[in-house]
Amino acid sequence: AKEEGGNGFRFYSSEMNARAVARMDLESNLRRALDEKEFFIEYQPQIDLVSNRMAGLEALVRWRHPQLGVIPPAQFIPLAEETNLILPLGEWVMEQVFLQCCRWHANGLANRQVRVAINVSGRQFDQADFVEMVKRLLQQTGAKAHWFEFEITENVLMKDVQRTIATLRQIRELGIHVAIDDFGTGYSSLSCLKHLPLNRLKIDKSFIADIQTNADDRAIVSATIAMAKRLDLEVTAEGVETEGQYGFVYQRDCDEVQGFYFCRPLPADKVLDACRKHLDE
Ligand code: C2E
Ligand code: CA
Ligand code: CA
Ligand code: CA
Repeated sequence: AKEEGGNGFRFYSSEMNARAVARMDLESNLRRALDEKEFFIEYQPQIDLVSNRMAGLEALVRWRHPQLGVIPPAQFIPLAEETNLILPLGEWVMEQVFLQCCRWHANGLANRQVRVAINVSGRQFDQADFVEMVKRLLQQTGAKAHWFEFEITENVLMKDVQRTIATLRQIRELGIHVAIDDFGTGYSSLSCLKHLPLNRLKIDKSFIADIQTNADDRAIVSATIAMAKRLDLEVTAEGVETEGQYGFVYQRDCDEVQGFYFCRPLPADKVLDACRKHLDE
């Protein structure tokens, strides 16, 4: 419940919406939504703690349902994964983000080294032709691999470590960075983590939420930041909502933060303004 707390839920959808959605035939709705282009993408800034500048953006998909309004991903991604609709949806998201980044680069985001992170579901990552699909989209759109970072959850990466290493190497060879997402919620063995060609570790927001009242969470976050640094990984704290949470991770030399304290996810057309604010102040 903590996970869904702050953002989407209250903001995007009422309890009534949630119940109505549950009653509907979500699967056929999802299929229709893909055809009708009812999905859209928001972008949440990731702030570098040293320079206080925007270092990246995470692409987050939403569904604008014609009757129910905007539905947050927690309410449809799990079903999209079960039904494999995540494959066309994930490909659509990637294509849209690539195209959007081409537009941004043509309009002033160039040379600013703002990475854009894309969530990759386990179903996508497990496809034998995943890397081929990415290559094809890069070619088709003209986007540059080094603009992007893939976020892949801990459990997906740990499922078959040998295969993960091989796939991550191919992704890295293209020039795309890789982050381990929701770190701490799964069961990585630390000895495996050492062998994965990762760039970044994202500390799950469930550890950040109670950092000021829960000594265990403080210990976990401190130890995770220290471990990431020893493994030469950049580390991002997600779900930073308060000045106190920000201060805690800042003091422990976390590299970047993402959270409502700095910025909520933004529609694409608000991103350049936010960039200017966070880059040029
Ligand atoms: P995630 O990858 O952990 O993404 C971060 C989530 O935390 C986002 O929720 C974001 O809006 C929310 N968040 C950011 N800052 C704060 C904060 O300060 N407090 C709180 N309480 N929440 C914060 P969102 O957009 O609702 O997405 C939920 C999840 O849906 C994502 O979690 C990700 O697992 C999945 N998702 C979103 N977009 C995609 C996508 O394109 N593909 C796939 N496969 N999954 C996606
Ligand atoms: Ca993510
Ligand atoms: Ca996360
Ligand atoms: Ca950095």
